[in-house]
Amino acid sequence: MSPRNQAGDRFDEREVVSRSITIDPQTGLENFVRPPLALIVRRAARWRCPNCGRGRLFARGFQVLQRCPHCSLSYFPESGYYLGAMIINYGVTATLVVLIFLLSLLFPDLTPWTMNTKILLWIAFAIALSLLMMRHSYSFWLGLDFWITPRQPKSPTSFC
Ligand SMILES: [Zn+2]
Repeated sequence: MSPRNQAGDRFDEREVVSRSITIDPQTGLENFVRPPLALIVRRAARWRCPNCGRGRLFARGFQVLQRCPHCSLSYFPESGYYLGAMIINYGVTATLVVLIFLLSLLFPDLTPWTMNTKILLWIAFAIALSLLMMRHSYSFWLGLDFWITPRQPKSPTSFC
């Protein structure tokens, strides 16, 4: 009987592929091979595991799975891991809001809104943009970190 991953799907252990780690047949030691950045970016854009490219990152909503359902790569290698994703999210959101605001100054103001209404609308826009970017930030942060420091997934049978 084949094992089940965290999502409850059955998987074949022979399908588990690790592109980042190879074993040197002569020494028996692990070789860490950095995957191509373009491959990592494609996987991050599709919200997939940076190691195997098949496992999804999110359960539902903004909840990140604990590990890859296919290769069991941990998506939480340490506590506070996604602080970097939040920094990316803040930076991209702030940059976009400021750029759009500066571009809007080029056009005449035809709205009847007061300054307070405009400020509230800009805040609402920034919050919505931040929520829209959250999954992408998490995915790209995980991919970037994996590209910089490739790590080996734990055995698929070691989690329950
Ligand atoms: Zn994976």
